[in-house]
Amino acid sequence: METTDKPIVSGEITNTCTCQAFDPETFEILTDDYGDPVPSDECFGCWDDALNMFSEDIAHLWEVYGHDRWVVTGIQLWNREVGGHFEARNVADLVRGMTVNSAWSMKYHVYADRVEYSLSHHDALGSASVLRPLDDDTCWS
Ligand SMILES: [Zn+2]
Repeated sequence: METTDKPIVSGEITNTCTCQAFDPETFEILTDDYGDPVPSDECFGCWDDALNMFSEDIAHLWEVYGHDRWVVTGIQLWNREVGGHFEARNVADLVRGMTVNSAWSMKYHVYADRVEYSLSHHDALGSASVLRPLDDDTCWS
């Protein structure tokens, strides 16, 4: 596969809460004895923010291709690689089709016609996965 083109945008997304605790009076991020941010006990909506960000990064794929059928390859499970066709009506569906049913994080590069990404989860430290809108002339089964 030719990959001489450059990514339009790159980013990172995780389905684990990334909210940090803050001082309710000063709104400063709290840190522990090592200077690391303290995870928040409650989520302030980081997942929705992450989805919105990802949605903006891949907006051109929805607009150009204008349909909800996608094909994904190279999702690494503990014993095999999987992929397949799926339907997505919104970005939450899309991310579900690109990932696994557990805690994960993903580094992605968005191109004009695809998303290349590396998915890390408890069974894999990364992957060479690709998401593409499914061509209309591709057999849909
Ligand atoms: Zn959160």
